[in-house]
Amino acid sequence: MNAPSPPLEVTPRDLSHYRAGNTGIDYVHRFASGRPGPHVMINALTHGNEFCGMVAVCSLLDSGVRPKIGTLTLSFANVAAYETFDAAKPFDSRLITHNLNRIWSQAWLDGGEDSVELRRAREMRPAVAAADHILDIHSTSQDVVPFWVYPAFARNAAVALALPRPEVHLVMPAGLGSGTPLIQHGAHAGADGPGAALVVECGQHFKQATADVACEVALDFLGHFGMIDRAVAAPASSPRRFELLRTHVIQNERFAFARPVIGFETFAAGELIAIDGPLEVRAPCADCTIFMPARVAIVGREGVYLTRPLP
Ligand SMILES: [Zn+2]
Repeated sequence: MNAPSPPLEVTPRDLSHYRAGNTGIDYVHRFASGRPGPHVMINALTHGNEFCGMVAVCSLLDSGVRPKIGTLTLSFANVAAYETFDAAKPFDSRLITHNLNRIWSQAWLDGGEDSVELRRAREMRPAVAAADHILDIHSTSQDVVPFWVYPAFARNAAVALALPRPEVHLVMPAGLGSGTPLIQHGAHAGADGPGAALVVECGQHFKQATADVACEVALDFLGHFGMIDRAVAAPASSPRRFELLRTHVIQNERFAFARPVIGFETFAAGELIAIDGPLEVRAPCADCTIFMPARVAIVGREGVYLTRPLP
């Protein structure tokens, strides 16, 4: 499985002048309005090569954004991985050792292992735990339409359904099945969590249009909670919703899809989606729609998300 590298319309910037925040945690900035209101966090670079969130958070910081109510936290998560970017291998700076978006459980955070990502998650833990509402900004390897990803709590759906974009929702009734993402850390994992915690996948990592989506979604998120003056339009059409059934984690080096895929392809019930060494990945339902197929097969990493369309 080899694919040519896409054009790099957005490339990394020097973030060193954002390093000293005001929270005691590098690259974490907090602005308190002094007025009652929610604590909203917008986080970028959970994955080091997903530049759209970096563009959105830089734009907010550079504009001097200040919340009208409540408290706003703006952060860059895996700057260490981001700084390893190499234009010849633009997908490699996603992470250094661990996927920073799968280690937010107590077991990992309080465990004995060490890595760049575990250290960073432990540093950022108080900032994430303090937030009522979290927008974690991501992008995809393949050039597919933007979509939300969130645990199937009403509080998450309410916010995602109130915003004009993206119009595709990937809902997770049982989590990811492959680790604990930032948006499910601590109280946000529970049915009685403090607020909405959403991932937005804004499009392909290196496209300018993806960064543009990230900027708009971040402003909409702030506008929705009354943090900034912004009229947030209602969605123009009803969303397309999908439910995550299973995340297939690659078991063997010999992993290959049955046909070329980029995401959003559908498979009939029982149809072969991929082979993973001796294993077969088959569609568990009619109209099984795949999300985030791996661009290259790496054992231990996610190969594909299997979903079913919701009415
Ligand atoms: Zn990501």
